[in-house]
Amino acid sequence: MEKIKMTTPLVEMDGDEMTRILWKMIKDELILPFVDLKTEYYDLGLPNRDKTSDQVTVDAANATKKYGVAVKCATITPNAQRMTEYNLKEMYKSPNGTIRSMLDGTVFRTPITIPSIHPAVKFWKKPITIARHAYGDVYKSVDIVVDEPGTAKLVFEGESGKTQEAIIHNFKGAGVLQGMHNTDKSIRSFAHSCFQYALALKQSIWFATKDTIAKKYDGRFRAIFDEVFQEYKDRFAEVGIEYFYTLIDDAVARVMRSEGGFIWACKNYDGDVMSDMVSTAFGSLAMMTSVLVSPDGNYEYEAAHGTVTRHYYKYLKGEETSTNPIATIFAWSGAFRKRGEKDNLPELVAYADKLEAACLDTLNEGYATKDLVNLMEGITPKMLTSAQFLAEIRKHLEKSL
Ligand code: NAP
Ligand code: MG
Repeated sequence: MEKIKMTTPLVEMDGDEMTRILWKMIKDELILPFVDLKTEYYDLGLPNRDKTSDQVTVDAANATKKYGVAVKCATITPNAQRMTEYNLKEMYKSPNGTIRSMLDGTVFRTPITIPSIHPAVKFWKKPITIARHAYGDVYKSVDIVVDEPGTAKLVFEGESGKTQEAIIHNFKGAGVLQGMHNTDKSIRSFAHSCFQYALALKQSIWFATKDTIAKKYDGRFRAIFDEVFQEYKDRFAEVGIEYFYTLIDDAVARVMRSEGGFIWACKNYDGDVMSDMVSTAFGSLAMMTSVLVSPDGNYEYEAAHGTVTRHYYKYLKGEETSTNPIATIFAWSGAFRKRGEKDNLPELVAYADKLEAACLDTLNEGYATKDLVNLMEGITPKMLTSAQFLAEIRKHLEKSL
């Protein structure tokens, strides 16, 4: 069989630990035999980040801006323990944080669903994608504990000399205070990323805040979304999708009663909380995909889970592991599909579809990794090691190609 051709390279970001092992296995078994793979390779594994003083992460983000599509392996975010383990020069920032701030993007998380794993919410038939605004609010707030009566004020001193002031509270005794912010620029980027991704997925988008209470703060989010939507309105109508705004508590109630199949855009805190609820209710972290979409239309695909350290230590001891590669495979297929769409390569898009179908067929026949075995219902699962599971997927893929 002739290998499927690519024209523009994918930006490939390698990573750490068990997912780095899976990364190579996936390439060897499921990609290199079938695709004439073109990538620009960046090694974001912790040893190379340390060697390059994290310049490699910056280079990879710049390459993503240049080429438009990247695929990333999970990476370690160093903490004190990792400093010793890897003998690091410094405690580098999270690569995802660096890439996200350089691309100014929004992260969309979607569960991969199969019939034998039932969502905890019985109404859910289709995946729900969470889009979390990743800047500001309580995550960039300052707070104060007060221990006596007094007046708390919110003061803004403009560069023009104009000031604005509001009384927060006249304390009669001890209490707590918090100041937080967001910027029009960040909210506008978030809105663009959401509407672009809705068009790409051909799914409606919901957005919710509490603008009845936070009239100015959340009101600003709502107003910017409404304003940005005017640019997308006609394209939404053409595709037959809608932008739906409601209050956050109403959104939660509607999500629970919905069939799924839409994107739920959330403010930073709501997204933090709701993405864990949605991913757990759908099944497993190992079945959750993630894509960073920048407002100017660059895409970086990855799995939502981390480097699966516990499994890696077993692997180092020579033990076989049953680590689930599905979300990492879907990161690759997502990147191939987007590359194929951008470069007008229908064969590459078809390969991405067939690779995903091969994964789902394998799971639907009951072949699974350990994490899924206990979740599957109405089927007798056969537990495989990662290597056996990938070999099984390859058989399906070979048949369909
Ligand atoms: P994790 O790697 O997601 O793993 C947590 C646990 O979830 C695992 O021990 C495993 O449970 C289960 N799990 C996750 N993915 C799985 C898979 N593909 N197959 C089977 N089981 C899976 O999270 P973590 O242990 O908190 O973090 C490990 C490292 O990853 C950290 O250094 C962190 O900085 C990094 N991290 C990176 C990213 C990223 O790059 N996007 C995201 C999160 C964390 P059992 O052990 O019970 O089998
Ligand atoms: Mg969280």
